[in-house]
Amino acid sequence: MYRLVLLTVFGLLCIGAKGQQKTISITIDDVPNTQKYRDDGFRSIFLDRLDSLDVPFTVFFNESKVFQNESIKKNIELLERWITHQNSNLGNHSFSHLRYSEVGYARFIDDIQKGEKLSDSLAILHKKSIDSFRFPFNDLGKDSLQHVHIKAYLSDRGDEIAPFTIESSDWMYDAVYRYYLEIGEHDKAKKIGQLYVIKTMELLGFFERMAVEIYGRPISHIYLCHDNSINADYIHHLVSALRIDGYQIVSYDESLLDQVYRQEDNYFQKWGVSWLFRWMATQNERVHWMKQEPDLTEIQQLFDQLQQNR
Ligand SMILES: [Zn+2]
Repeated sequence: MYRLVLLTVFGLLCIGAKGQQKTISITIDDVPNTQKYRDDGFRSIFLDRLDSLDVPFTVFFNESKVFQNESIKKNIELLERWITHQNSNLGNHSFSHLRYSEVGYARFIDDIQKGEKLSDSLAILHKKSIDSFRFPFNDLGKDSLQHVHIKAYLSDRGDEIAPFTIESSDWMYDAVYRYYLEIGEHDKAKKIGQLYVIKTMELLGFFERMAVEIYGRPISHIYLCHDNSINADYIHHLVSALRIDGYQIVSYDESLLDQVYRQEDNYFQKWGVSWLFRWMATQNERVHWMKQEPDLTEIQQLFDQLQQNR
């Protein structure tokens, strides 16, 4: 009995200590960015950077990217580098990044299966596995019927749906960043890189405050970003900012141990919103919080201008 009490007290102390430690895991979608690798001389600067940072990370593959240029053999070698990296955890992001709500069930599950033909066999070869799936655009279907249908399919397959709690539209920052680099405006590109880090931290602050208000403690966050130039060049700045703010970078599996991820998904629309919103019971509650989310007007305007001029 005494031992049981001691163990219980010890357990509570551990939870208390863990509750104070802010944690986040890094997940990267749309890997492998083979066009960029080719431009950079068939290497992934992003992976090299992650390697030097020595942080755990999870990658979600779109295998169609392997076949996007003529250098298939080299692309497969680069895909294999992500798979074999000691700090990598692997997931499927479908073959060709289709929108489930648009293409429907049959075509979408075909794309899921096709999406891990290469990566799954390479993973097995290197004693790893692919058992999580992240939806392209985080589009889980246009209505509850589509949601239920695909969730049952993935569950039968033994695949978990990969959630995220924070993303910061890194793809918009990336587009503007690359444009400035292309036209030789390096100072402007640098400003966009810095803005990306600042805004990501601002958004994380918002989602953390929201979590503390709802759950009474910080939660283990899952950050969603992409295999692109801005992350290749700024991930180390982002990791530094996270550490300065008291975050420990943990593995995706460790984040998933947080009890928040055991909650029901109550969101049945097609939009790619954070799981913090999906767990909310009502749309009113979602709207209440969404209205307070830091705005991305500055980068949105630059991105829109870029689209109009092209
Ligand atoms: Zn994607």
